[in-house]
Amino acid sequence: MDKALAQKVIDRLSSAKSPALFTHLRPDGDAFGSLMGLAHTLKDRGQNPTLHVEGGMIPMYRFLPGSDLIQDIPDQLPPRSDAFVVLDTSTRERVGKKTADWKQPVDLVIDHHISNPGFGILNLIVPEIPATAGVLFRLFEMAGWKISPATATCLYAGLSTDTGSFRYRGTDAQTLRIAASLVELGANPSEVAKHCYLSITPERYQLKKLTVETLSLKDNKKSGFLTILPEFYSKSGAKSEDTEGIIEEVTSIQGLEVASLFEFIQDGGLRVSLRSKGRVDVNAIASSFGGGGHRAAAGIRFPQDGEKNRDLVLAAISQAIAKLKD
Ligand code: AMP
Ligand code: MN
Ligand code: MN
Repeated sequence: MDKALAQKVIDRLSSAKSPALFTHLRPDGDAFGSLMGLAHTLKDRGQNPTLHVEGGMIPMYRFLPGSDLIQDIPDQLPPRSDAFVVLDTSTRERVGKKTADWKQPVDLVIDHHISNPGFGILNLIVPEIPATAGVLFRLFEMAGWKISPATATCLYAGLSTDTGSFRYRGTDAQTLRIAASLVELGANPSEVAKHCYLSITPERYQLKKLTVETLSLKDNKKSGFLTILPEFYSKSGAKSEDTEGIIEEVTSIQGLEVASLFEFIQDGGLRVSLRSKGRVDVNAIASSFGGGGHRAAAGIRFPQDGEKNRDLVLAAISQAIAKLKD
């Protein structure tokens, strides 16, 4: 982490009395964990942050301390806010529809996505740490700010979920050192795991079952894709956030290099998730279609032409796999 840049970020955060904190739409554990971890720390320092997420809190992460602090995105940037801060978000568009027309520039971006162009005035983007929660931990440590058990729990949840429980490629000694420090500071790994991995609702399980049945293997069984159709939601009673994690079922197949999930949206759009075991750079594939993410996990959102775009993405995956030397 660039120390001079990190110091500027610390100074900018310290100078804000009422920073407005945002993250990405379809928020995950790192989005909520980072947002709430930063909020607890700023509050402990006497600041008054507001927290905004498109759609508000989702049930799965309600166990995190301070979940009642989360609000939906307001029509305009809160008038009293003196810093517009965005966490764990690779592009300005992914903050949410409402914020797209706001004239105010983003003051501060803290993130770990390699595809992040740096859309703020000040940008701390650290791809070598596998979660924004981990970037925040290092930042608080540098600043000498006290990390409470509440902050530690939120940051640990972000780090654990973004590394697939410390299984993905980005997990290194530093990741585990940060996790160990967070546990020493009060995070409880089994409690976080219970809520994040062992609390699937029957509706979510039903959606997973319907989706897994659509599996299609391609490219000599080196790639596989799943499909979610709009009616899967009415059939299962699940919500859109319940898709998180389903793709891992495909990634776990032996010999497979790339897994993809295509979610056809009612309005004709398409949401794509891509995962790689490491040899194929799925961020490069996603970026070529206007999406982004990381080398091993990336996504794309197409507003229309779902089927045509699915075929284009599948062709790009086949091409990338064909280039691998076995
Ligand atoms: P997902 O498949 O939705 O879990 O996303 C995997 C990774 O790709 C995450 O790190 C996302 O932040 C990123 N990502 C997903 N969708 C997009 C998109 N449309 N544009 C840029 N990045 C994305
Ligand atoms: Mn995220
Ligand atoms: Mn993240």
